[in-house]
Amino acid sequence: MTQDPIAHHDANAQPCTAPLSATLDALRAELGADAVRVGEQIGERAMTDWTRHAPTRPAALLLPRSTEEVARALAICHAAYQPVVPQGGMTGLAGGAIARANDIALSLERLAGVEEIDAASATLTVRAGTTLQTAQEAAAQAGFELALDLGARGSCQIGGNLATNAGGNRVIQSGTARDQVLGLEVVLANGDVLSSLGKMVKNNTGYDLKHWFIGSEGTLGIITRAVLRLHPQRAARHTALVALNGYDAAVNLLRRLSTRFGNDISAFEIMWPDFYDFGVKLTGTRSPFDGAHPLYALIEHAGFDADDHGERFAAALTEALDEGAIRDAVIAQSVADARALWAIRECTAEFPVRLDPINFDVSLPISVIGDFVERCRAALNERWPGNESYFFGHIGDSNLHVTVDGNSIPGVDHHAVYAFVYEMLGPLHGSVSAEHGIGLLKREFLPISRSPTELAAMAAIKHALDPHGILNPGKLF
Ligand SMILES: Cc1cc2nc3c(=O)[nH]c(=O)nc-3n(C[C@H](O)[C@H](O)[C@H](O)COP(=O)(O)OP(=O)(O)OC[C@H]3O[C@@H](n4cnc5c(N)ncnc54)[C@H](O)[C@@H]3O)c2cc1C
Repeated sequence: MTQDPIAHHDANAQPCTAPLSATLDALRAELGADAVRVGEQIGERAMTDWTRHAPTRPAALLLPRSTEEVARALAICHAAYQPVVPQGGMTGLAGGAIARANDIALSLERLAGVEEIDAASATLTVRAGTTLQTAQEAAAQAGFELALDLGARGSCQIGGNLATNAGGNRVIQSGTARDQVLGLEVVLANGDVLSSLGKMVKNNTGYDLKHWFIGSEGTLGIITRAVLRLHPQRAARHTALVALNGYDAAVNLLRRLSTRFGNDISAFEIMWPDFYDFGVKLTGTRSPFDGAHPLYALIEHAGFDADDHGERFAAALTEALDEGAIRDAVIAQSVADARALWAIRECTAEFPVRLDPINFDVSLPISVIGDFVERCRAALNERWPGNESYFFGHIGDSNLHVTVDGNSIPGVDHHAVYAFVYEMLGPLHGSVSAEHGIGLLKREFLPISRSPTELAAMAAIKHALDPHGILNPGKLF
């Protein structure tokens, strides 16, 4: 695998004021020896995230069991100017959780579990190390729905989801991770616990501090607990795979279905043929369509009426078919059918195994995405003939993913591919990260999407909350 040469250093880092051994002794005294792992005791999981970028064994791995232990650990590291890298489920796609050899990694995995479901307030209080799937299941058992959902649900953690402000499959219906948060508990760099675990929807009492930490990628504080908003369970869920004439037809279909069903349309995932064919092959399924089509959409309708067996949704698609607005459609007849269709879209979990993925997670106005895909593909083909690239995305929320397989361009410098695609994005005022975050891999491209004034304001917040620069140094900035 060709590693890109993005430097993993922080120009603003300040030297530690205590030897590492003294800091580790202090940590062992506070947390106990079994919560401080070093050397071979640190497994591969702590060395890199889903990108498999630059695997590095950190100087130590901390496994605190409570907010208080996180606080005591950070107080020690703050006093010693010792860098700390928060680690969640390690499913991140921006290299944000990768520690350097002299960093201490702090895993939230022992800080797991759902603490409370308050049915009257429709809230779920959860510890940061809980996997998304565990939180979803707890909500479902109580008759609610946690709106956040993404392919990494079995491994990613609520803390990581909030630190990255994850998007996922249901953003068109319920918003991003940020929109699910009512309260947050965070340990600040100096070990102070900032507890804003309120359950209220309305709370206009000065700055809404929780939003500073959501999407801050572990650079401003370590999230330890959260109060999440619960939604009523949608009893009727129907999934369809639709074949389309092209991008304009997809946008028209999205608008048509939204007009008919409002936000009962919970997912609208677009797959260009390169991605679709790869997903079908990878999952070992057969395409439900006879021939090939210019574009595919995986659409989920989720309503509240348990007696709705999908007739209205099916009728809307039949009408679109009769009018020539779509080329073909299949509707899942069972949960197993629906899973098989989703498996095609979620084949991205296999990308690091099957490909040398160079991932893009860009955001553009919905109106220009189709044109961008055509131009981007043509430009990649001209620059790197024979490259294999995959285009897909959550188009309803203006999010396009592109994965270029580095294996198809032997010896390619990943960085050159990043720079090439981002250069096309700049004039369109697109975002270099729609949902995965900046982390390590997109740091140098952040100025494409943020003005000098915005960057200066971010740096001022960082300095105010983490004056010793110990939290996830070298990420984001
Ligand atoms: C198959 C697959 C599908 C995916 N689909 C989506 C998708 O649809 N939408 C999407 O947005 N993302 C998606 N992702 C990316 C990833 O799952 C998300 O970014 C997720 O939110 C990361 O959570 P994590 O717990 O794995 O975080 P990690 O990878 O461990 O960390 C991510 C960042 O958060 C920081 N962090 C972690 N925990 C904390 C904490 N408690 N406090 C402070 N900082 C913390 C880390 O330092 C790092 O900067 C996908 C990934 C995979 C592998």
